[in-house]
Amino acid sequence: MKIIMLGAPGAGKGSQASRIANEYHLPHISTGDIFRANLKEETELGKQAKSFMDKGELVPDDITIAMLLDRIHKEDCKNGYILDGFPRTIPQAEALKEALAKQGEKIDLALDVEAPDDFIIKRMAGRRTCPNCSAIYHTETLKPKKEGICDLCGAELVQRKDDNEETVKNRLKIYHEMTEPLISYYKKENILEEVDGMEKLDAVFEKVKEIINKRS
Ligand code: AMP
Repeated sequence: MKIIMLGAPGAGKGSQASRIANEYHLPHISTGDIFRANLKEETELGKQAKSFMDKGELVPDDITIAMLLDRIHKEDCKNGYILDGFPRTIPQAEALKEALAKQGEKIDLALDVEAPDDFIIKRMAGRRTCPNCSAIYHTETLKPKKEGICDLCGAELVQRKDDNEETVKNRLKIYHEMTEPLISYYKKENILEEVDGMEKLDAVFEKVKEIINKRS
């Protein structure tokens, strides 16, 4: 099954994508994680993406599309995948559709995790991430067993540079302008489903599983 996660940054789509990946044994492809790994390794791609990411802006479509298409043509993607953070613009969605159509394939489900901006701004202030395995925590609602340390791999948790309030507000503005139109785009394709991102993560995941099981 090929699944797209939609929703504003911080709505909880990454957390749901990880759970889906575990439950259904599908690769979790986060374009943000791929960019961050390239930044850390100081690759050419990382250098190209850095200035956009630091400001909370979108990396240009041509760079992002080439990177994503390369990733989904890898062997581990042949039974499906979960795209988290892609597409973020209509041209990205069109490029994906076209590349899949060439192989007689299509996206099966676009899952929109909905949450209002004020809720997201509060949530992002407490978000901590593992720079090593990308696990996500929260200082109030999803604490690790040992403060500041990842439960899964023992690395020291960090606050992402782009999770500060000013950058989050910019990311939300860009989300509404550039990414939100994808909700109607996938509604027209009859593959859109919505869940309430303000509920607890486990409760959201129960609904997500119902949706996936119904559609698969
Ligand atoms: P994320 O971890 O999904 O919030 O992504 C972090 C940052 O990576 C974003 O703010 C963008 O700068 C960049 N990025 C990730 N995915 C995309 C995409 N599909 N298109 C453009 N930029 C992206």
